[in-house]
Amino acid sequence: MKIYDVAIIGAGITGTAIARELSKYKLKTLLIDKEVDIAFGGATKANTGIIHAGYDDPPGSNRAKYCPKGNSLWPKLAKELEIPFKQTSSFVVVFNEEDVKELENLLERGRKNGVPRLEIIHDKKRLAQMEPHLSPRAVAALWAPTAGIISPYEAAIALAENARENGVEIFLETRVERVKVENGEVKGVETSRGFIPAKVVVNAAGLYADEISRTAGVDYFTIHPRKGEYHIYDKRLGHLARRPLFPTPTPISKGIVVTPTVEGNLLIGPNARDISDKEDTSTTREGLDEVMRGAAKLIPGIEKYRRLIIRNFAGLRAEPSTRDFIVEAYDDPRGFINVAGIRSPGLTSAPAIAQAVAEMIAEKELLKLQKKEKFNPYRKAIPRVVEMPPSEANKLIKEKPEYGHIICRCEHVSEGEVIEAIRRGAKTIDGIKFRTRAGMGRCQGGFCTYYVLKILARELGVPEEKVTKRGKGSELFPYKIKELVRRDENAS
Ligand SMILES: Cc1cc2nc3c(=O)[nH]c(=O)nc-3n(C[C@H](O)[C@H](O)[C@H](O)COP(=O)(O)OP(=O)(O)OC[C@H]3O[C@@H](n4cnc5c(N)ncnc54)[C@H](O)[C@@H]3O)c2cc1C
Repeated sequence: MKIYDVAIIGAGITGTAIARELSKYKLKTLLIDKEVDIAFGGATKANTGIIHAGYDDPPGSNRAKYCPKGNSLWPKLAKELEIPFKQTSSFVVVFNEEDVKELENLLERGRKNGVPRLEIIHDKKRLAQMEPHLSPRAVAALWAPTAGIISPYEAAIALAENARENGVEIFLETRVERVKVENGEVKGVETSRGFIPAKVVVNAAGLYADEISRTAGVDYFTIHPRKGEYHIYDKRLGHLARRPLFPTPTPISKGIVVTPTVEGNLLIGPNARDISDKEDTSTTREGLDEVMRGAAKLIPGIEKYRRLIIRNFAGLRAEPSTRDFIVEAYDDPRGFINVAGIRSPGLTSAPAIAQAVAEMIAEKELLKLQKKEKFNPYRKAIPRVVEMPPSEANKLIKEKPEYGHIICRCEHVSEGEVIEAIRRGAKTIDGIKFRTRAGMGRCQGGFCTYYVLKILARELGVPEEKVTKRGKGSELFPYKIKELVRRDENAS
């Protein structure tokens, strides 16, 4: 049986960033997730997509340590992996003079955390020039030029692709049941597919990291879900905010934000509600109304554009009882590393946390870390016909006519892009959506879903009724009409 050097549990942004970091070394690394695809199972697929500057995390905390560092690593990483990313900067906005003090506190915190170039803009005219749709009631803003926006699921997919290119193996649809420990040492993981031996186990299981940790005998923390709900608007409203616009933070969250997405939509949310069910990603009327009220303080009149909302969704923050990220390697059990309680700003922090995990492995002498001579840091994005200059698009279509067949009218996605996404590992409708944006536009898949389904069935060599939205149990067409009629006849 193959013995892995490292088994990473969880293929969200944290697990994929760790996998990519460890792929720089001569190690046998395995990335495991219970879901059918990368970033399907947790917070990585449903968050605000902001690369935070790092001014609001308590100085001295792990969040304050990893957020500004992660922020500084993303621009190069995004370039190497061709991940959509924009360094837009961000604003924290206040509406009366007394609250300017809060901005000063945040600025001071930011300086302590090592955040560069923070500035308080206390000039209504300049604010209006920089954000023409911002409420005229805004009196000042903390400007964080290093903040940015990214596509979180595309980032995780790109990190996983590059890790695989550099030798990391990926087991999907594999649920880790427990960490096996003998005589104070990690031996591997028991999974739904049997035992997998590994010398080091990294627990990056998001909301379930407390349960995994308990099986390894480390049980001093718990994780509970904190829900955040969103409205996402059509691209026609993308211009209403040029950068993420925050109110001042609350004790439990960064507040309801109005932000452009890196793809050009407008996103408003999230609220913050503590719940008990780790799978409850439903949205509520009450929550969505709260989001709308919060956004309207920043952009007055936004309520008028309800008809341009294309989707509501919710994500669950993995809120640890310690209130801080838990990034620790233990002496007992030796070989076990927790990367748990990765709440916000976990997306931003992921590349810095990944480096810290590699450093812990070296410092604790869990494994010998030798750099590979042939690490390839680059990954090519799927070609997007709609973003190419016409001459380039024509050349591609001549070589591969499937790139000339547009199957998603809203986002202008071609059949060639869908086929390439399948070649890279997409097996479901959502896997195609996250890789190509087919189904993310105005009609939310009304036009393209059937084409995507047909292409998936053809390319994967499976019947259409076996194609799923996001894994077993989410088949779009459970059976053919013929079969239904036959069942009906047999029953009568
Ligand atoms: C509403 C909201 C807004 C946010 N906004 C931002 C933001 O703007 N900027 C920012 O920096 N951060 C933000 N965050 C935080 C960020 O999204 C998370 O910190 C980050 O996505 C966590 O990634 P992860 O990989 O640790 O966890 P996850 O993405 O939850 O991944 C965990 C993975 O583990 C897998 N798993 C779980 N149990 C098992 C098991 N037993 N066996 C195998 N696999 C298992 C799951 O399937 C899942 O894929 C936000 C979070 C939320 C919820």
